[in-house]
Amino acid sequence: MKQSRIVAGIMSVLVMAGGASIPVHGEYTGARPEYVYSSHMNEQNKIALTFDDGPHPVYTPIILDILKEHGVRATFFIIGENAERYPDLVRRIQQEGHEIGNHTYLHKNLKEHSVNCICDEITHAEDAILRIAEQRTKLLRPPGGLYNQQVCDAARKLDYDIILWTVDTLDWTHPTSEEIAVTIESNIKCGDIILCHDFIGGDPSPTPDAIRLVIPRLLQRGYTFVSVSELIHSK
Ligand SMILES: [Zn+2]
Repeated sequence: MKQSRIVAGIMSVLVMAGGASIPVHGEYTGARPEYVYSSHMNEQNKIALTFDDGPHPVYTPIILDILKEHGVRATFFIIGENAERYPDLVRRIQQEGHEIGNHTYLHKNLKEHSVNCICDEITHAEDAILRIAEQRTKLLRPPGGLYNQQVCDAARKLDYDIILWTVDTLDWTHPTSEEIAVTIESNIKCGDIILCHDFIGGDPSPTPDAIRLVIPRLLQRGYTFVSVSELIHSK
């Protein structure tokens, strides 16, 4: 009895030690905290399409038009600074039934900052979104998907879930639209979160044409596009 308590004590120390240094997305080997999601298995073939870094004055409206055409909901992880630059687009995203997530105010690598500084980055963006769209989001996508214990601590302090992804289109590296569509179609499975960008550097963006190709194909395969919140809370 005494020995098993000692073993249990050692195990909890090991778990705590493992939790003290959480590797970045993509290098992760241990158990993730329950509030960090990269997918969520469900019984209805639900998947989530996400767009980071916007709003963008040209590409966000095109993407919204395509989503509307197919009656598809998506989630936009908005940068606070861009929200203030393009408030009408933030309102349009909201009015058309999409979800808004927090992608920080200045898109810093959060791993390089203290918990207080990370909290400031998150709340600064949250306040901008609240002022513009009169809604508060509790979904955080850390820039680059980079996170560590401090990011987790900040997210918990502010009651955020951390949202990563399972299918990375790498659209910011400017593959062709067809290549992006193939990447999505060949990797997608139930519960996946797809990472795209509505704001990328360099014109033209391949992303709008890629989603124009891939949305009808995935609908035909029986997938349902839902917001990230709906996905992570579905059974
Ligand atoms: Zn980003």
